[in-house]
Amino acid sequence: MTLSPDVVAELERIVGAQALIVSHEGRMTYECDMHTFYKGAPDVVVLPTRAEEVQAVVRLCRRARVPIVPRGSGTGLIGGAMAPLGGVMVGLNRMNRILDVDLPNRCAVVQPGLINLWLTQAVQGRGYFFAPDPSSQMVSSIGGNVATNAGGPHCLKYGITTNHVLGLELVTGTGELVRLGGKVVDRPGYDLTGAAVGSEGTFGLVTAITVRLLHAPEAVKTVLAAFRTLVEACESVSAIIAAGMTPAALEILDEAIIRAINAGVGAGYPDNAGAVLLIELDGPRAEVEAQGERAAAICRERGALSVTVARDDAERALLWKGRKEAAGAVGRLTSAYLLQDAVVPRSRLPEIMREVIAIGERYGLLIANVFHAGDGNLHPLICYDDRDPDQLARAREANDALLRACIALGGSVTGEHGAGLDKASSLPLQYGPADLNFMFRLRRAFDPDGIMNPMKLLPSHPACGEGFRPARPTLPAGAWV
Ligand SMILES: Cc1cc2nc3c(=O)[nH]c(=O)nc-3n(C[C@H](O)[C@H](O)[C@H](O)COP(=O)(O)OP(=O)(O)OC[C@H]3O[C@@H](n4cnc5c(N)ncnc54)[C@H](O)[C@@H]3O)c2cc1C
Repeated sequence: MTLSPDVVAELERIVGAQALIVSHEGRMTYECDMHTFYKGAPDVVVLPTRAEEVQAVVRLCRRARVPIVPRGSGTGLIGGAMAPLGGVMVGLNRMNRILDVDLPNRCAVVQPGLINLWLTQAVQGRGYFFAPDPSSQMVSSIGGNVATNAGGPHCLKYGITTNHVLGLELVTGTGELVRLGGKVVDRPGYDLTGAAVGSEGTFGLVTAITVRLLHAPEAVKTVLAAFRTLVEACESVSAIIAAGMTPAALEILDEAIIRAINAGVGAGYPDNAGAVLLIELDGPRAEVEAQGERAAAICRERGALSVTVARDDAERALLWKGRKEAAGAVGRLTSAYLLQDAVVPRSRLPEIMREVIAIGERYGLLIANVFHAGDGNLHPLICYDDRDPDQLARAREANDALLRACIALGGSVTGEHGAGLDKASSLPLQYGPADLNFMFRLRRAFDPDGIMNPMKLLPSHPACGEGFRPARPTLPAGAWV
């Protein structure tokens, strides 16, 4: 769509010329998130600094019936912070302040554009940390983490973003500014904070967040166990948990990823391994020491080729550097990949990994794996050459086969990354029409005109009355009521 000059002039009046991007090259910077397969540039980008500006932008867009796409750091992997129908993108990066740190009540209030890691950096000197730690935590925004309900390596023990959000300030699709939840837990009424976390910008724009802060653990121990095969590494995950431990993190990286990391990051993972299992334990020192030895012993009993225990913070940081920079290192393996974020119950990991290997062989494609094994949250990277249409077609078929295999094992079509444009049409694999209708009606309560992040999160159908329709309906006619 093309915006009328009146709307652009009004946007400039609201945020100022310095916070308005209208040039072609400027807008192209915002045409996709990290799932670069989906492209759609906004007609204009605004960069507000205050909630009142956000409110004024939404009210204007509502009057003019213009779609709005919220954007944090654009690190999403689902086609979320991109504009398939054009419209106004609201970049929240300039709203990046910590508004309040309340250590007696172990919480903080932050603006949505604050980078995740900056919050921990601000409070760690006083012995606290912010637990949700997506591997993108050096760059992703807390607003984006809230909107996608992000997970991360340490979410096995600490829970995902929703477990750490106490309250939200939200400008809804009607332009109202509402406060959901707050510092006091157990408030009367509906848990709308819980509903809004993970709503991917479809309810409105988050303009402030009250988050929990946790006491930093007394001790941390990191162990790297190398296995001959991916399946052996997966079997050890269940064995560790069955032994009564809840490690802070249990991450697996396969042979292809190890190769890429060793060449690119130099983390020194064993070259001869088919997979490595990264185990982190934290808590009281005596408990961590005992559990570290027990976890290492379990890996040895299960045939680990080697078990390395980090001796100090520097060695620990190096082991994590490999994991945290794995996504970047993949560039050494392939020019393009499709990343799957499906989930299976943890006990089904060995089965799904056999299936992943078989699918790779069937479609003649490398599938590299780096994932949050403790949560059963897979991240197979289906590698293909983007200059070859045949490879792309095979990659898409392999992607589909993978998704169906996860569902057949009792899993989910998406884990921590959310649905965005990528998975919206897959939701009917997991939910019935009544479930989807209910979610749709909830969305409409926050955004009656369908202006907020259209085409994202839920599948659409002409019968559902969504103001901005996707190109292809995904449910049979009449599925919506
Ligand atoms: C290398 C790498 C590693 C990653 N590791 C993880 C991981 O371990 N765990 C994980 O969960 N994800 C991971 N991700 C995905 C991504 O970083 C997360 O989804 C993150 O939460 C997105 O934050 P962002 O600020 O980049 O949001 P964006 O990509 O800008 O936006 C994501 C979605 O949130 C909406 N949104 C953004 N800000 C707001 C707001 N203020 N109000 C309303 N809606 C908003 C957008 O419209 C979009 O739908 C990874 C990505 C990369 C590139």
